[in-house]
Amino acid sequence: MSKLYFIPGSQDLYGEECLKQVAADCKKMNDFFNEKLGDTVKFELLPTVETSKICVEDMKKVMADDDCVGVVTWMHTFSPAKMWIKGLQLLRKPLLHLHTQANEKLPYSEIDMDFMNLNQAAHGDREYGFIVKKLGIPHEVVAGYYENPDFLEGVKRFAEVAKAIAYSHDLRVATFGNNMRDVAVTDGNRLEAEIKYGWEIKYWGIGEIADIVEKISDEETDKKMDEYLSKYEMDTDNTEAVREQAKYEIAFEKFIKDNGCRAFTDTFQDLHNMKQLPGIAIQNLMAKGVGFGPEGDYKISAFSAVLMKMAEGRKGATGFIEDYTYDLTAGSELELASHMLEVPASFALTKPKIQVHPLGIGGKADPARLVFDSVTGDGIQVTIIDLGDHFRIICADIELVKVPQPMPKLPVAQIMYRHKPNFKIGTAGWCQAGGAHHSVVSTALTKEDIILFAHLTDTELIIIDENTTEADIRKF
Ligand code: MN
Repeated sequence: MSKLYFIPGSQDLYGEECLKQVAADCKKMNDFFNEKLGDTVKFELLPTVETSKICVEDMKKVMADDDCVGVVTWMHTFSPAKMWIKGLQLLRKPLLHLHTQANEKLPYSEIDMDFMNLNQAAHGDREYGFIVKKLGIPHEVVAGYYENPDFLEGVKRFAEVAKAIAYSHDLRVATFGNNMRDVAVTDGNRLEAEIKYGWEIKYWGIGEIADIVEKISDEETDKKMDEYLSKYEMDTDNTEAVREQAKYEIAFEKFIKDNGCRAFTDTFQDLHNMKQLPGIAIQNLMAKGVGFGPEGDYKISAFSAVLMKMAEGRKGATGFIEDYTYDLTAGSELELASHMLEVPASFALTKPKIQVHPLGIGGKADPARLVFDSVTGDGIQVTIIDLGDHFRIICADIELVKVPQPMPKLPVAQIMYRHKPNFKIGTAGWCQAGGAHHSVVSTALTKEDIILFAHLTDTELIIIDENTTEADIRKF
């Protein structure tokens, strides 16, 4: 279970009684967080920082604990911030600063100097805020009374984003084949991606998968087919084509597990010894939280895995999509995002149908895929690009809509959405910002989650939403 260490700050100038009260109040707050947010993350209280030495010891514990995804700090009293310098210099995990108090209201008729000295977050948190800024540590600040729902929401968001960042730094991506020839956006600096986000991007030939496929037994394939039939509706007589995909999924699953990977890529230009382009095999794996990028796109594969982790436990769908084509009817413009095959099954509104159709690209046998209509509602589209000297995340608010008319001759999963603030600004803004044609769509995450992720990972961020103007997008 992931945990956040809670490190409060104080000092010994106000005496032993004061420190006892600080410890008691912090325990109460820690218990409250565990009660309210314990399903998301566990909170564990560490000794109150009264000296630089205690701070260093606390932070050593934070860094040595693999279950710890971040740190929560709060200055109950004044905590002279030079005491925090050496400890914070050791910290390389996400940091949340709570700007709150043990008491909600001021006891106007009772307040005396002792009360004011004990409860002085307005004083101590600003001293602490200064040193965090001076040290240049990207961090989150949540302000307000700690029992309020919006305060808890801020702490929960931090916990989910911190978990995703920890996952990111432990993420290995298998690339089967290289990037699709001539495509720009799937390329980039893998070394920088590992230094900044922790993504280990490892190359293997697709022959590794083809070799495993050959050795898969009928029993193993039967079992995977049972899984498909329990979730999906068989809508083809070409069972052999579906069994072939079942073998692909078994092989990918086995290979990435054996090699410690939780995300992968393939490319239709390198399918040596594979009869079909993987379709349902990948759609089913993505729905289990496995990151995926087509055409060798390791960035979107890793990013989709990280965002699926961030959305864990929330309602809604999250996964890879590819922009394809528009309905440009003035005033009711829509986008159809389908990709050739690989739309995650998690987006299905109704039970997906397993069908087999020609692909028209790649020169391989007709691949089995899942065909379905998508969920609807508010969502975000988010991508990450490599601009050479830095990464940039682009996040757009969108509204997923019902397909206005059936598309019986388009046998792929269909996601349609409306851009914000409108088609013209939304799509022109995306192009101005350099947004990729590969992205992650989510109805579970919001732009606030992405804003926090970008902030904590010190990544440039472009937001396109209801308030974006034509003047804004020229500055992208
Ligand atoms: Mn593509």
